[in-house]
Amino acid sequence: MIEDQKQMPFDVNKIRDDFPLLKRSVYGKDLIYLDNGATSQKPQVVIDAINEYYSENNSNIHRGVHYLSQLATTQYEDARKIIQTYINASLPEEVLFTKGTSDSINLVAFSFGETLSKGDEVIISAMEHHSNIVPWQMMCERKECTLRVVPIDENGDLILEEFEKLLNNRTKLVAVSHISNSLGTINPVKTIIDKAHAVGAKVLIDGAQSIQHMKVDMLELDCDFYAFSGHKVFGPTGVGILYGKKDILDNMPPYQGGGDMIAKVTFEKTTYNELPHKFEAGTPNISGGIGLGAAIKYFSELDIEAIHSHEQELAGYTESKLMEFPGMKIIGTAKEKTSVVSFVVDGIHPFDLGTLLDKQGIAVRTGHHCTQPIMDFFEIPGTIRASFAFYNTMEEIDIFIAAVERSLNMLR
Ligand SMILES: *Cc1c(COP(=O)(O)O)cnc(C)c1O
Repeated sequence: MIEDQKQMPFDVNKIRDDFPLLKRSVYGKDLIYLDNGATSQKPQVVIDAINEYYSENNSNIHRGVHYLSQLATTQYEDARKIIQTYINASLPEEVLFTKGTSDSINLVAFSFGETLSKGDEVIISAMEHHSNIVPWQMMCERKECTLRVVPIDENGDLILEEFEKLLNNRTKLVAVSHISNSLGTINPVKTIIDKAHAVGAKVLIDGAQSIQHMKVDMLELDCDFYAFSGHKVFGPTGVGILYGKKDILDNMPPYQGGGDMIAKVTFEKTTYNELPHKFEAGTPNISGGIGLGAAIKYFSELDIEAIHSHEQELAGYTESKLMEFPGMKIIGTAKEKTSVVSFVVDGIHPFDLGTLLDKQGIAVRTGHHCTQPIMDFFEIPGTIRASFAFYNTMEEIDIFIAAVERSLNMLR
């Protein structure tokens, strides 16, 4: 990025104008969208980038001799470079386009998994999304490896001493979330990465909840893999990223076979293409990649520090207001937390409260948030989760709190 590029001052109302969906109403009420942990809304620039690709530049990439194909290829590869620059990866070919976080983790579990042998160990944590549990269970079954789980405490913090006890010279991979989607816990990933590297293990970070809230820097973190989804960072669905260190990716077998990922094919032997193409078989989600590039460009021009303090203010205010209700319990009170507020109320089923909030135009999520082991740990069926983005406002929180009050009165 250009060094002296001026960052736009943070003005939430001006920012809201960039997001057409935020202007809509539901059931005749102004929409209050507090389900950003599930997916984020899209700024007009992202919608325009997708629209422009289909209305003006649609063509297949990496193979055509003609004008449009070359143009589409350039746009797609430019998007990769925007993302590379933003996450500070050394090389564009370390940035692989996937379908999303789940796909990125499955790629590593399948391909890196092939390099493991019987008796090797993989460590995950008790706060992982199902996407960062099930692929490892499948891999461990296939390769006869052992899956170990770092426990969490009552606040939703990882118990780091237990992590250290699990590490040994059989540990080949540690896969943990940067930020928990249901608790909001920000994990000390740098410490985890350094400790894992000390025993020779590689580290995958599930970053599905991070990029939209904080600056992440691949070189500084020194993780081996980092996964995230386009749709949670103001980009389209069906596209995501797997960052991987080049030397590690080079030594992994392909995940899927097909067009684009080959150098030469005969019936006797096929040689594989170079990175990133080796891991990008078939025609990709071209408009999605271009849309994700537009999203990251949009986001990178905002003031991330200002976003952070705005979101912290929203979450802090929400928690303090919620705590005024009797029987209220916040689930997830970690030392370092992002703008996610998960809660339960004595005697009230989360789904009932969520349904009443919905009727008042408020979108929250209820349930286990794809983290059933966390719900088992806290012995609850699920939570109500309000998850914020930088475009949410304090006025919205006031309306949300009033709606919670009205709903609880109806349910009690
Ligand atoms: C959403 C999420 C995932 C899965 O992302 P998909 O886009 O559904 O593939 C994985 N991990 C965390 C922490 C998430 O929040």
